[in-house]
Amino acid sequence: MTSAVRDVLVVGGGPAGSALAVLLRRRGHDVVLVDEARFPRDKVCGEGVSPEAWRLLADLGVDAEVRALGPHPLRGMALVSPDGTGFRGLYRRRDDDLGFAVRRDRLDHVLLQHARRAGVEVREATRATVLRWAADGAHEVTVANGAGPESIQARLVVGADGRRSVVARSLGLLLEHASLRKFAVRGHWRGMQGLEACGEMHVAAGGYCGVAPLGDGLANVAFVLDRRDMAEAGGDLEAFYRSSITRRWPRLAERLAIAQLLAPPRAIGPLALQARGLSAPGALLVGDAAGFYDPFTGEGVTLALRSAELAAGAADDALRSGRTGDLRAYDRARHAATRDKFRLNRLLQRVVAWPALANAVARRLARRPDLADQLVGIAGDFVPARTALGPRFVWDLLRS
Ligand SMILES: Cc1cc2nc3c(=O)[nH]c(=O)nc-3n(C[C@H](O)[C@H](O)[C@H](O)COP(=O)(O)OP(=O)(O)OC[C@H]3O[C@@H](n4cnc5c(N)ncnc54)[C@H](O)[C@@H]3O)c2cc1C
Repeated sequence: MTSAVRDVLVVGGGPAGSALAVLLRRRGHDVVLVDEARFPRDKVCGEGVSPEAWRLLADLGVDAEVRALGPHPLRGMALVSPDGTGFRGLYRRRDDDLGFAVRRDRLDHVLLQHARRAGVEVREATRATVLRWAADGAHEVTVANGAGPESIQARLVVGADGRRSVVARSLGLLLEHASLRKFAVRGHWRGMQGLEACGEMHVAAGGYCGVAPLGDGLANVAFVLDRRDMAEAGGDLEAFYRSSITRRWPRLAERLAIAQLLAPPRAIGPLALQARGLSAPGALLVGDAAGFYDPFTGEGVTLALRSAELAAGAADDALRSGRTGDLRAYDRARHAATRDKFRLNRLLQRVVAWPALANAVARRLARRPDLADQLVGIAGDFVPARTALGPRFVWDLLRS
């Protein structure tokens, strides 16, 4: 039974929105979710998912359906520095769960369908346009679909609408990063040579290129460059995509020589966005809508699911007590859960941006597979990030 004022309106049906919608519906709340896309929909992403995602998917009760998609298992990450030094870190978990690579159109569709089955009212092809924040807790969101605009009132509005979140912007919470101006271009290929059961990251001067093996001879090849390098693209993105790989990552170009690009590549950017806060009275932000830094460590999907898990507790308490005006418990919980990892990500950015340093670190990690495993375990979200921020790790890295 739905009332005129809904308990929760979730804007965005990616992993963050679908997951939070399920968790709140399960706790008995009336949830409506709108997404401007019709699913299955594409999402520009590296499509490698860290092992920790399995725990979160199991908690949502959707892990069996994701396994049924046949995701390609990832045993770890192989990294190559600008001078060609390679090292590999393996996911060493007690439960043996590996990472996986899967097309986002398929993964996100499964998650959205799961939300629908859980009793969430899902409206596809429905875009949130205007948000009005009310003092009395009945916030109003205008949504538009083929039938014209409509207004939905809700006690809690969740911004799960990705990097360019209309919810975060209407609250004044999301800003472009002051200095990071990176763009990504992604293509799907069939027939790439040399794929194995690891994700790959190839660092070059000025950027990096990730490869995720998707199974059945398919691969996702996505690179990240600075905005000024993107100017060369002019009006021909595909020519730019192909020529950038050839010039910057010639070894990858060799492996793609007889492969087929399955569809025109897609570009997005600028990638980095900073959130000033994660909640406001009657609203909270999950997934990329709560800020996005850089995809190098490939944790976005897991973080989207994890932020939904953290938000669910705070949102449930607030809805039950009628105090949706203060959701700062979520800000604190997410900050505590992500602080160390984000610090490490910023450090890694510096290493990646400085080729001589990236080469030196790669040479050390090639000699110390145990440290490489730890680093990849942190990126995989099952080794605490503070491990790598401690003096012991840094000392081991520098003296080896
Ligand atoms: C180049 C690149 C590579 C990446 N590689 C990886 C990787 O390998 N592994 C990984 O885990 N993460 C990776 N990420 C990050 C990952 O893609 C994101 O973190 C993840 O998709 C976040 O999920 P989300 O649910 O927050 O948002 P999204 O998946 O972006 O979903 C947002 C949804 O909101 C909808 N929406 C937007 N605006 C509106 C509106 N106004 N009204 C209604 N609906 C709206 C959209 O249609 C969309 O369905 C990468 C990101 C980039 C840019």
